[in-house]
Amino acid sequence: MNMRRRMVFSFLILALFFSQSKLWAWGPVGHEVVALIADSRLSPDAKNQIAAILGSNGNLEEIANCADWIKHAKQDVSCGNFTLPPMPETASWHFVDIPINSQDPSGAIASACGPDGQCSIDQIESHLQILSDSSSSLEQRQQALMFVTHLVGDLHQPLHNATEILPDGTSDRGGNLKKMSFESGGKATNLHALWDDLIEPASEAKDMDPESLAQTLEGEISDQDAVIWSQASLADMALEGYEIAQNQIYPDYHAPGGDVVTSSYEDQMRPIVDERLEKAGVRLAALLNKTFKPIPVLVPSPSILGSANQKLPKIEKLLIPALGRAW
Ligand SMILES: [Zn+2]
Repeated sequence: MNMRRRMVFSFLILALFFSQSKLWAWGPVGHEVVALIADSRLSPDAKNQIAAILGSNGNLEEIANCADWIKHAKQDVSCGNFTLPPMPETASWHFVDIPINSQDPSGAIASACGPDGQCSIDQIESHLQILSDSSSSLEQRQQALMFVTHLVGDLHQPLHNATEILPDGTSDRGGNLKKMSFESGGKATNLHALWDDLIEPASEAKDMDPESLAQTLEGEISDQDAVIWSQASLADMALEGYEIAQNQIYPDYHAPGGDVVTSSYEDQMRPIVDERLEKAGVRLAALLNKTFKPIPVLVPSPSILGSANQKLPKIEKLLIPALGRAW
């Protein structure tokens, strides 16, 4: 192959790689994959209560991306079986920007969220409370479930948990201001967008859809992983992503040539991306299983059956433990 043909060939391979790769990670398909993994791990009680919120044919996948749509919408958007108004004021709910190289990353979470809870961690927490509050309206529950489903996915994108403070004191907005370019004169991007949308090799993309990717990732999750991952707090989840950003993503960017995207970058980051999506799905299910606890069932106590020496109440509540782990 002569030089000119080789260059054209290389450009076509890279163009295919990056156009296909837009489908994955934390773009629309990535959020659907997280929802699909969670859907398959819901307890019967959670499934029943989610069906009451989304309709009997509803599922987490169909509401997984609505939170991104309403950030930029100019008019009402359709989300599963319900409609949402534009909500540009919710843009800060999608991340918690912990400054990299922070002396006290956990302590930095509080200041990143601010007193009004304008961050992913606080918003997931408050929307879970809406879901567990029996006085919440159907509309409040629909919005709360929609936000929790999406924001738990965002909480597992490392650049939604970290930012770099620039010499002038401003933030690089989670890598949004870190310019990058693709090899062989490809289009410009930035570090954050790369992690949002551009992590998937063309060699696999042709066979993939959200269901098959979710199934592949689901097959890699051991029972033991699921138990351990489900014990993480929301802050733990954010700090995991922060550490990936601090120890790998930002140092790689600042290394010589780190602002040029190559296919080896994908090879290097792919295992991290896969595990973040797996953890997000497992943890979303665990959060919902814990939130949608079984409704207490009243049953007669043994005292009714004649055990005279026992001072038991005549009716006891029988609570069937939720499948989700303690949080
Ligand atoms: Zn988002």
